[in-house]
Amino acid sequence: MSNNPLNRYELPARSPYRTRTNQKIVPQQIVFPETKEDPSHNPKNAEAPASDEPQIAEASRELPRARVQGQPTSFYRVNVKASPAQKPVEENKFFGNCPRCEWKGYLTFAAESQADVKLCSCQAEICPQCNGEGGSIISLESGNRAWKTCDCRKLARRMELYRAAHIPSRFADKTLDAFAPNDDSQAKARAHFYKLYYDPTSNRSFKPGDAGVLLMGSPGVGKTHLMVGFLRNLILERGIACRFQDFGLLLSDMRDGYTRDVPEQHILQPLVDIDVLLLDDLGKGRNSKWELGIIDTLISCRYNAGRTTLITTNYTLDPETTLRERSRGRGHIDSEEFLSRDTLRDRVGDRIYSRLHEMCRIFFVRGNDYRQILQKP
Ligand code: ADP
Repeated sequence: MSNNPLNRYELPARSPYRTRTNQKIVPQQIVFPETKEDPSHNPKNAEAPASDEPQIAEASRELPRARVQGQPTSFYRVNVKASPAQKPVEENKFFGNCPRCEWKGYLTFAAESQADVKLCSCQAEICPQCNGEGGSIISLESGNRAWKTCDCRKLARRMELYRAAHIPSRFADKTLDAFAPNDDSQAKARAHFYKLYYDPTSNRSFKPGDAGVLLMGSPGVGKTHLMVGFLRNLILERGIACRFQDFGLLLSDMRDGYTRDVPEQHILQPLVDIDVLLLDDLGKGRNSKWELGIIDTLISCRYNAGRTTLITTNYTLDPETTLRERSRGRGHIDSEEFLSRDTLRDRVGDRIYSRLHEMCRIFFVRGNDYRQILQKP
């Protein structure tokens, strides 16, 4: 590959080459959304430092890339931003389609304890762009030379980030596109995630530090599904470090930590430091002072550091709604927890309740319990 920056994105001369499965791959057609930098691109909206990579076409929801038919595409991204006026990329009939990964290059799957990710077999064993070296030296306008990491290494790093996110196995295949809203509130929440990920009207992508999202509502309405769908896009398509944390599990980890003399800090600090934290089922527990203290520490530290926090909770803003929604979701009155009229405010305390309003855009997700719908014959 040429070291001339102007030729950075030209096709390698070594094609055709072979994939892992030893199939010959012949590039047929390359389709870039645009070939020039978008002059209207605002540098403030640039990619997060964690993912120092070229902007790619972002008009499509499930993240299309510049594609070469019959070839692994992650090696051929272009340093452009799709203009808002541009025709949606998914409508472009020339885009190829790997039936397994849809040209994303990776496949997520349910491993024993958490969701895992692997390279799709459509990806070449040796990257034809960097020849397996992980990058190349490029000449800068200043006359200096610099090392440019190849996209193939970025995918490897994102896969590591995905593993480090601790997403539970049962959410390995949950994407925003796979979510089928059965209520307006669900459709609204999903639309907000698409817009947060990439807003075509302002040509702005999500950046760590942006306001998070709080989804509240009865169990089984798809709150966690939506959050995980968003999270996987941030990790695997943008290279943003994220972490899934079930709140109930956090409490038991901390109790366990006391018996093993593990300082609270060791458990909480990684959750404070991560760019994007998803706290699932906030407020779950006995609502003791100790539990309130943990919520306070965690949320306050993230608030002060200006980090993005995503939250799901079964507790809503007013007791009437909480009761009615939970009654609809469960369909029967059989537990002490159900009879509780606790609101979110009761569960997190006044201080944190106020902060959550500033840190997150709040959505009330309604609907029937999807788990019960699935069980019906
Ligand atoms: P919650 O977090 O609100 O309790 P979950 O997100 O855990 O609910 O959803 C429970 C199960 O139902 C998950 O497997 C999820 O994928 C599925 N589910 C819920 N709502 C939908 C939906 N609208 N479309 C597809 N799957 C859904």
